[in-house]
Amino acid sequence: MLPKHVFQPPRGMRDYLPRDLYERRVVENTIRELFRLYGYEEVETPTVEHYELLAAKVGEETRRTMYVFKDLAGRTLALRPEGTAPIARLVASKLKTAPKPLRLGYVWDFYRYDEPQRGRYRRFYQGGFELLGSSRPEADIEILSISIELMRRLGFESFQVKLNNVNILRSLMAEKGLDEATQNRILGLADKKRYAEAIEELKKHGVGEDLISKLSRLFQLRGVDHRELMSEAERVLKGCENALEALKNLRFILETVKEVYPEPQYLLDFGFARGLEYYTGLIFEVFVDGLDIALIGGGRYDKLVELYGGEPTPAVGCAPGIDRLVLAMKLKNIMPDPPSNYRVYLCILNEKVLAYGFKVSARLRAEGIPVEMEVMGRKLSKTLSIASSRGFLYTVIIGPKEAESGLVSLKDMAKGVQETLTVEEMLKRIKIRLQTLHVSKRL
Ligand code: AMP
Repeated sequence: MLPKHVFQPPRGMRDYLPRDLYERRVVENTIRELFRLYGYEEVETPTVEHYELLAAKVGEETRRTMYVFKDLAGRTLALRPEGTAPIARLVASKLKTAPKPLRLGYVWDFYRYDEPQRGRYRRFYQGGFELLGSSRPEADIEILSISIELMRRLGFESFQVKLNNVNILRSLMAEKGLDEATQNRILGLADKKRYAEAIEELKKHGVGEDLISKLSRLFQLRGVDHRELMSEAERVLKGCENALEALKNLRFILETVKEVYPEPQYLLDFGFARGLEYYTGLIFEVFVDGLDIALIGGGRYDKLVELYGGEPTPAVGCAPGIDRLVLAMKLKNIMPDPPSNYRVYLCILNEKVLAYGFKVSARLRAEGIPVEMEVMGRKLSKTLSIASSRGFLYTVIIGPKEAESGLVSLKDMAKGVQETLTVEEMLKRIKIRLQTLHVSKRL
């Protein structure tokens, strides 16, 4: 006897039953519609990659939570924890000579050994929009627009976009000689809002008071009064040209996006960092009230393709968290119900007429009409009561009499009326009925 726990999926992983999968598809279909509308071509890479590739630039937290294993030949492999690394690998290799810009999209599963909680799983789905080849702000604005469009199309009435440019914090630290590993550690702590520890870490590196006070100030600087926050940040960054440049870039992106999409609330947060180390410019996350986890994350990663041996390729992208978007839609009561699928039940009374019955079912399906066959050998009376309780429109009954004369018996489940018809008459009858039910477009 197997132990009880093996009948559950591994902790943090989920079975998707029909309703769950329907809900996931609502989000995935909207993502794919945006691929089409914005010109993103979908790609797929293996779920498993070489560990070194994934570990190269993802950040300490993600590295620690990767599922790593050796295959039988001794290769160290890992389940992908995020999508940017496989995309950058493609662009550095097979798509090396593809004309830029490249717009790549995906809908993949990801694995992280996170502590499971609401909206945090060990296996989850993310969509991805990756725009490669442009360092211009239009590219950042496109990625932000896609994120906002997705929220709108899913039906969210109010949501928040949190933004920063990691280059502000990075440039300040780089100017004082802090190497990239130290910068990553500080940003990793800031990502977790452990600002006091970030400051302690800075002190350990013997940096001057000036940098400590600048960073402490930036860590507190957040809100929706953009003008005020921008001028305060400008004061703090005075003298550090690269940081000011990053601030200017952030201001331009924010102002443009705000003009196009005035509805979302934009939260400027100068202490905001993201756990992934590859970000080099704009970073952002999307939230809704009542759910304290990011629904979409994104940012610019100009160095990653080069790190993987490709041409220098500036890039920016975003990853909508599909499971979390589903959760948020349900929380806000905006998840649509599955559309009614008006179906026909088909009951063959006798094995000798099975072939005739299957031919009739094929005719129905050729006309786009969904048919389910009785396969349990139930008696007609039982079949009819099941068909009626499960909401079928009609039951088609086929016995030797019908087969001999090339006819069918059609029972209207709502009216309880049964008629014997030719196959063509039956098709006509069902199609007219479906049209009156406003499903003609799907036929
Ligand atoms: P990241 O790759 O960390 O930038 O995450 C991108 C998006 O994926 C997030 O905004 C979430 O919506 C989603 N996501 C990340 N980690 C998880 C997880 N453990 N479970 C479910 N969704 C996640």
